[in-house]
Amino acid sequence: MELKRRQFVKHLGVVAVFGSVSGQGLAHSLTGTAYPPESKPWIELSKAAYLHNASLINQMAGSRPVMAVLKNNAYGLGVVQVAEILNTSNSVLGMAVVKDESALAIRSAGVTKPVLLMNDFDTSLAQELIRQDITLSIYSRSSLKKIRQMVGSATDTVKVALYVDTGLGRMGIPYRETVRLAGEIANAPGLSIEQTFSTLTTPRDFAQEQIVRFEEVIKNLEKKGISPGLKHLAPSYSLLDLPGSHQEAVRPGILLHGSFPMADMPEAKQYPLKIPYRLKAPVIRLEKLKAGDTIGFSRFYKVKKDEWIATLPIGWADGYDSGAENGAKVLLGEELYPVVNVNASHTNVSLGEKTRVNVGDAATLIGPDRAEITPEGFGKLVNRHNYLQINYKESIPKRVYETF
Ligand SMILES: *Cc1c(COP(=O)(O)O)cnc(C)c1O
Repeated sequence: MELKRRQFVKHLGVVAVFGSVSGQGLAHSLTGTAYPPESKPWIELSKAAYLHNASLINQMAGSRPVMAVLKNNAYGLGVVQVAEILNTSNSVLGMAVVKDESALAIRSAGVTKPVLLMNDFDTSLAQELIRQDITLSIYSRSSLKKIRQMVGSATDTVKVALYVDTGLGRMGIPYRETVRLAGEIANAPGLSIEQTFSTLTTPRDFAQEQIVRFEEVIKNLEKKGISPGLKHLAPSYSLLDLPGSHQEAVRPGILLHGSFPMADMPEAKQYPLKIPYRLKAPVIRLEKLKAGDTIGFSRFYKVKKDEWIATLPIGWADGYDSGAENGAKVLLGEELYPVVNVNASHTNVSLGEKTRVNVGDAATLIGPDRAEITPEGFGKLVNRHNYLQINYKESIPKRVYETF
C-alpha cells in the first residue's frame, strides 16, 4: 500500500488541474490500508498527445492548419482544458464551437486564437460575444438580420463567417443564395467576412459535388469583389478521403481526440494518432458474490461460481456506454477484467475467484494503455461506434498532465 501512496503523491506532482483534492487526506479502508480519496470518476488529459495529434492532422492535410472542432464540450473531454492545450499548438489556427457559452468560456480561459461559433447565439450574450472577438456564423437570412440588429449598438467591427449549405441540408445558407446574401453582408456597415465554410457529407461522389458547389460560390464571391476570408470544408472523414476538401484549413473533431471517424481506416497505420485521455473511476466496493447471486435491477448478470465483484461509481448517466456490459474490459493494475453490468450510476467488474484489487484502486475504463480499452478497441468488443465514447458528462472532473 505504501507504493500506492507514493504513486498517488507523484501523481499530484504532475497535475495542473486538480482543485478537488486539496484539503482531503488519504482515507483508510476497513482493513486499515490507505487509498487515494477519489470517490468519483475523472478524466485525464495528455497535453503532449493532443499536440502530437494536431501536428499529425496538419501532415494529413498537406500542411494546412487546423480549425479544431470542440463542440459537445470537446467531445465530452472538457472544452476549456482541451482549448487551453490546443491554443499552444502551431498546427492549430483556431477553434470552432457550437455553443455561445463555450465560445466565451474558452476566451475567459485565455484562448487567444480565433474562435468561430458555428451556430445561433443567445441575444443576451451578443455584446459579450462581440467584445470577446468571437466570429459569428451567418447561416440564414434571419441570422443575418439578427446580427445586423446587434451591430447597431456594437462599437467594434463584428467578425462573421459565411456558413454555406452545399448539401448537408441542416445548417447554412443554401449555396444558390449565398452570393446574393453575401452582397448584402458586404454592404452592411460594421460586418467583416473573415471565413467562408461548409460541411461535406461522407459519400464520396456527393462530397465531390459539394466541393464543386463551394468553389463555385467562392469564384462568384470573388467576381463581385467580396473576399471570402479563410475557406474550410473538411471534417475528419473528408480530410482523409478527399484531398480536394483541404482548402485553406481543415476542420476535424474526432481525429484530435485520437480516433479515426471509422474503424479500420487504412490511414490509421500511416498516421499513429495517440489517445490523449483516460476515463478513470475508483473501486468503491468489493464483495465476493456467491454462485446464483445476480447483479442489477433486471438481474442482468448471474454469478456462476463465487467471484469478486468490484463496483465503480460511474454509469450510463455519466456517459459511459451502457453497451460495455456486453463484453468491454477495464484495466485495474496490469490486468484487464470484464465489465458485467452497467446501471445509471454504477458499473460492475468481475475480478474472478481471487483478487489483489483493493477498494480505492483506480480502474481505467477508456485510455491508451491497452488495445482493448482504446475507443476503437472498446467499440470492437461491444460492437459500437467510436463516437459513442464522447458522451461524458461535463461534471466529470478533468486532470491535465504534460504527458502520459
Ligand atoms: C462535428 C463537425 C465537424 C467535425 O466532425 P468530425 O467528424 O468529428 O471530424 C466539422 N464541422 C462541422 C460543421 C461539424 O458539425
